[in-house]
Amino acid sequence: MEKRHIAILGSTGSIGRQALDVIRQHRDLFEVELLTANNSTELLIQQAIEFDVNNVVICNEDKYAEVSEALQPHYIKVFAGMQSVCDLVSGDNIDIVLTSMVGFSGLSSTVAAVKAGKTIALANKETLVAAGKLVMGLAEKHHARILPVDSEHSAIFQCLMGSAGAPIEKIHLTASGGPFRTWNREDIAKATRAQALNHPNWSMGSKITIDSATMMNKGLEIIEARWLFGIPGDKIQVVIHPESIIHSMVEYADGSVIAQMGHPDMREAIQFAFSYPYRLSLDNRKLNFAELGSMSFFAPDQEKFPALSLAYAALEKGGNMPCIMNAANEAAVAAFLREEIGFYDITDIVGECMAGADFAENPSLEDIFETNDATLAKAAELISKTAGGKSL
Ligand code: MG
Repeated sequence: MEKRHIAILGSTGSIGRQALDVIRQHRDLFEVELLTANNSTELLIQQAIEFDVNNVVICNEDKYAEVSEALQPHYIKVFAGMQSVCDLVSGDNIDIVLTSMVGFSGLSSTVAAVKAGKTIALANKETLVAAGKLVMGLAEKHHARILPVDSEHSAIFQCLMGSAGAPIEKIHLTASGGPFRTWNREDIAKATRAQALNHPNWSMGSKITIDSATMMNKGLEIIEARWLFGIPGDKIQVVIHPESIIHSMVEYADGSVIAQMGHPDMREAIQFAFSYPYRLSLDNRKLNFAELGSMSFFAPDQEKFPALSLAYAALEKGGNMPCIMNAANEAAVAAFLREEIGFYDITDIVGECMAGADFAENPSLEDIFETNDATLAKAAELISKTAGGKSL
């Protein structure tokens, strides 16, 4: 395998840090060219020096001076702002762009990398939820390969390898069920920020951890799978699998089911996106089936977790509806993390935004940005109304 040159967008987040750990184990195969972060200057500076990168972007322009001063003695070029990210990902020195920033804010830089024909290691699922049809269309036009980093989608991708064109019956998308799987609805309604952030299996950033608790993460993943694999929503089924050993499965029309397994460790999916189509070694924990003993599976409870039905509805409606769902969810999750609204207010606000939305059947990229802004404003209104009526 020839050496691959990598840009990591969002290097100080959970996925970014784990990606650097993968690269640490294969310094002869991977070279870090570009690191970007929103606010975490200290870690960004430390990473830039350790990996001796060419370029660094601090998105928050107020923090430019601090980063620039620290990296100047190391001859590392420092830039500020989102436009710099978009400009630098297109550089000739970059082969792979890991999109591990959080939320809709990752869309413009992902589009820039796709237009430059880069291989995208996609960790930012919100990009495909908000603008899946547009992003996949651009990827085809510019010959940009999109490789999944989301563990479920990496699993599906691996289960599909070597079976091009084979008829598919179903995708079985596994879900841990999150911290509230065994709670009743009344208790979930009173769930606190700390309880929702306490994920049983996966160590992740706070936005995705709340999404796992509401199961909106699985809703976003249904839509992500639809676009990555071109499989309609009614063939994507969610199954609760609390052990998170099977990361997802593909069922072919002949009834044969292929599963991809491993202990939950995001580095496995990140590394495979970096090394594809090759496999490398990794210092992770290996499976011991005799020790594991058994695995369990349940149907998801859609009454306790209304996010799943919202996602299926958004996918079926199409157009800008998944973008509306995503934007409302981002605003509501942020409000829940600020402890302004209750747990079920998150999905209530998403549902209200979807019901009252300005629907567009065939949105352009500009329309998607407008939809996102309009929905954030609408959600902010609903949040202040909800927060005002509550003594949290
Ligand atoms: Mg996932």
